[in-house]
Amino acid sequence: MLIDLHVHTSPRSPCSNIHPAELIQEAKRIGLDGFCLTEHQVLWDWDEVVRLAGDNGIKIFRGNEITTAQGDVLVFGLDQDIKGIITIQELHLIVQSAGGFSIAAHPFRGFKMFGVGQLGMTLDQACKKKILQFVDSIEIRNGRVTEKENEVAGNVAEKLGLRGTAGSDAHEIGALGTWVTIFEKDIETETDLLRELKSGRFTIGSAR
Ligand SMILES: [Zn+2]
Ligand SMILES: [Zn+2]
Repeated sequence: MLIDLHVHTSPRSPCSNIHPAELIQEAKRIGLDGFCLTEHQVLWDWDEVVRLAGDNGIKIFRGNEITTAQGDVLVFGLDQDIKGIITIQELHLIVQSAGGFSIAAHPFRGFKMFGVGQLGMTLDQACKKKILQFVDSIEIRNGRVTEKENEVAGNVAEKLGLRGTAGSDAHEIGALGTWVTIFEKDIETETDLLRELKSGRFTIGSAR
C-alpha cells in the first residue's frame, strides 16, 4: 500500500500552493493508495477530511508537522495542535502519553551548509544528533532535500536500527508521491496507520 506520509496544502500551510481537492486526482493518476495531510502545527478536522476524501477510494490520513527547537517532527495519533516553541523532549512526552508516533522530518536538511563533512562529523556523531534520541523513526527520504541529505539520514537510521519512512513533503502538486512509504498491510483507518508505523512493517519507494 503506497502512502505519501508528508504533504502540505493551502491555506493551512501558507507555504504550500496545493489545493486539497487536487490531491485526490493526482494521487489516483500516479497510483497512490493514500496520503497524509501533515500541515505545520495544524491538525485537520476529521469531518473535513471525510468530506475531502468523498468516495474516491483514496485514503486520507492526518498527521501534524511540529516545529521543535531541535527541528521538525511529523507526529501521528496526536489529537491536539501545538503552538509556540516546544523542545523535542517536551514533544516526546506529549506524543508518548498520547500513544502516538513521531518521525524526525528531513533530519539532515541544511547538511550542505552546515555539513556533516565540513564539520568533520562522523556517522557516529550524526547519530548523536539530539532530536534523534527522542523520536520513534526518521524520515530517510524527503522530496525537498538533496540526495546526500537523504543518504545521511538513511545511514543514520540504519546505524540506529530504526526503520525509516519516506514522504514527498509536497508543497506543489507535481511533487506528490516523489517518495512514499510502502506498507505491507492494508490501512483503512488512522488506528491502522499508527499500528503499522509502530510495527515497522513498511519499506520506502517512489510513485514517480
Ligand atoms: Zn519541515
Ligand atoms: Zn513538511
